[in-house]
Amino acid sequence: MRPEILFPLFAPISTLKGVGPKVAPLVEKLAGPLVRDVLFLKPHSLVHRKPSSFLSLVDGEVATLSVVVNDHQRPRAANQPWRIRVVDGESGFVTITFFKGHGPHLERQHPVGAKRIVSGKVERFNDSWNIVHPDYFVDIARADEVPELEAIYPATAGLPARTVRKLAHEALERAPDLAEWQDPAWLARERWPGWREALEHLHNPRDDADIALLGPARRRLAFDELLAHQLALAQRKAARKAEAAPAILAGPMADRLEAALPWKLTGAQIRALSEIRGDLQAGERMSRLLQGDVGSGKTVVCTLAIADVLDAGRQAALMAPTEILARQHFETIAPMLEAQGVRVVLLTGRDKGGVRAEKLMALMDGTAGVAVGTHALFQDEVKFRGLSLAVIDEQHRFGVNERKRLTDKGDGVHLLAMSATPIPRTLELTVFGDLDVSRIDEKPPGRTPVATAAVPSPRLPQVIDRLKKAVAEGAQAFWICPLVAESDELDVMAAETRAAELRLTMGSQVGLVHGQMSGAEKDEVMAAFAEGRLPVLVATTVVEVGVNVPNATIMVIEHADRFGLAQLHQLRGRVGRGRRESACLLIYDPPLGDIAEQRLDILRKTDDGFEIAEKDLELRGGGDPLGLKQSGFPAYRLADPAAHRELIAVAADDARLILARDPTLTGERGQKVRLLQELFDWRPGAQGD
Ligand code: ADP
Ligand code: MG
Repeated sequence: MRPEILFPLFAPISTLKGVGPKVAPLVEKLAGPLVRDVLFLKPHSLVHRKPSSFLSLVDGEVATLSVVVNDHQRPRAANQPWRIRVVDGESGFVTITFFKGHGPHLERQHPVGAKRIVSGKVERFNDSWNIVHPDYFVDIARADEVPELEAIYPATAGLPARTVRKLAHEALERAPDLAEWQDPAWLARERWPGWREALEHLHNPRDDADIALLGPARRRLAFDELLAHQLALAQRKAARKAEAAPAILAGPMADRLEAALPWKLTGAQIRALSEIRGDLQAGERMSRLLQGDVGSGKTVVCTLAIADVLDAGRQAALMAPTEILARQHFETIAPMLEAQGVRVVLLTGRDKGGVRAEKLMALMDGTAGVAVGTHALFQDEVKFRGLSLAVIDEQHRFGVNERKRLTDKGDGVHLLAMSATPIPRTLELTVFGDLDVSRIDEKPPGRTPVATAAVPSPRLPQVIDRLKKAVAEGAQAFWICPLVAESDELDVMAAETRAAELRLTMGSQVGLVHGQMSGAEKDEVMAAFAEGRLPVLVATTVVEVGVNVPNATIMVIEHADRFGLAQLHQLRGRVGRGRRESACLLIYDPPLGDIAEQRLDILRKTDDGFEIAEKDLELRGGGDPLGLKQSGFPAYRLADPAAHRELIAVAADDARLILARDPTLTGERGQKVRLLQELFDWRPGAQGD
């Protein structure tokens, strides 16, 4: 139950003044459906509107002038603007320009001789000063309507920043005083304001520090949010651990499988496996993440864990986000396990009718020990006789509820999540705070580093020449066309155009796979590529991370500058899997900005995903440098995971401490902290499995 004191903040936005049925959808799009969401909007910059003089105007800066209307210059044609010349006595004049939609009423509103305050960006052109569409143009009697300092909010079409500011102020008025949930000593040490005071600073800034990402107000609010999140993660983890689960011991099947491998496990694989086994034996539910670069060999580790589960007479499921990946896992795992007398079934959205019914029956009666599949696995009709382990590959591609639907198919189902997204250690807690992490930080031996080069797009013809030669010598290549356009269709067109162009010289050696093809079509092209029948595969980013085609040695990535580094690294990871020399060509449209150049440079210098992620974070410092939003990263409202990264670990420690002292959050601080969680919707169970 939400505490009454928060009701005003959890009222719908329509209760704000001026938010009628027309405006509400815009506000909802920008902020969210609740007053709370508007309260948590933050200004991105400050405009200083201190009165300026005509003599001190600076091109491109905001000025605020006290003026007299001198004359109106009506447009001579319909497409011309309406101009008003204003003067300040002796020193000169400024031309104020209004484009279409502003007609003769301007003349009535601002008659010649009227005294006005005008504020806006001044620009110098045609040897005179101009303000196009001033922010303010008001009667001098209403000068106090022009704030000296104005916080600029994000806006959206139809909802100007100034309206957003009004709404934020109204939301602020509704914000109650809440009992302090932070540790007073910590607050004092950081010299942070209280919660409501911090919001005051944010919405009524007196200086730049009030809204700065690293200013006290914003850091305080960021810490609140991080703490609320870390608490929820810690609670979720504790709840999972509290559930009993069958203890599963290491069995002989895994030994036999390992002995049959054509190579030895790496030290990192052995470590990861023993950590997983430690969890499986503990008698409580495992929640572990197996983190490792593309090609680091996660599949065999999870297969050995699956073998232990099978030896214990239980079942396991392995879920992957795409059909291609699920199929590939199936093709790797099924022969290994079937040699041990275990039936493995593949379940995807394409299974229909009798075949599907038979597979479902086999899982239900236990004749099949392992299910490998896509989203099809967590559907209600899928039932297990004794599911004890759920392995989720590329775990961030699934929603928490989807993962939960799978783990709910048994009692005390152990969870093994896998991810190849290199998350810098500093950010790990925000993504995986509810999981124990095993890292495979060592690649299988015998890999040759991928030669990586950044190539300006005008040199594409040479790239194509080189590709042709390589293909003639038996090489295989991926050619990735990124998500550029707003719409799938346009991206698909870009890929189709590229494929068509390559086919002009290479004909049927070029295949195409994209997100709008049916599963069967995609599989067919992928299979042809994987079996070496198709030398060149043009793809949108549907070719998911993890697809394994050891013979592919060339990776061409168009518009490389538009990808996150993590993604580029993962794409590159799909070549260089064999002993042969591989190359990755990052195509970009020149000129390349400074930061973009340094980023591509990182990729050229190292092949370590974690190092790449960490460096990229350092380099960009803010925003979403790694493209983490696509990697299941939480969408924080006030915290910026990069800029506030040093607060993350503190919040995690604090969360652990709070829960250790007061696991049910019923003590004095616990109750206050619960209010904090409510405020951010991060209460236990709200997104838990
Ligand atoms: P990931 O899922 O981590 O991206 P995979 O499990 O697909 O990586 O492994 C990539 C390739 O490396 C596979 O072909 C696999 O057979 C091979 N491999 C895995 N472990 C080893 C090892 N210890 N030594 C040699 N090759 C290995
Ligand atoms: Mg994999």
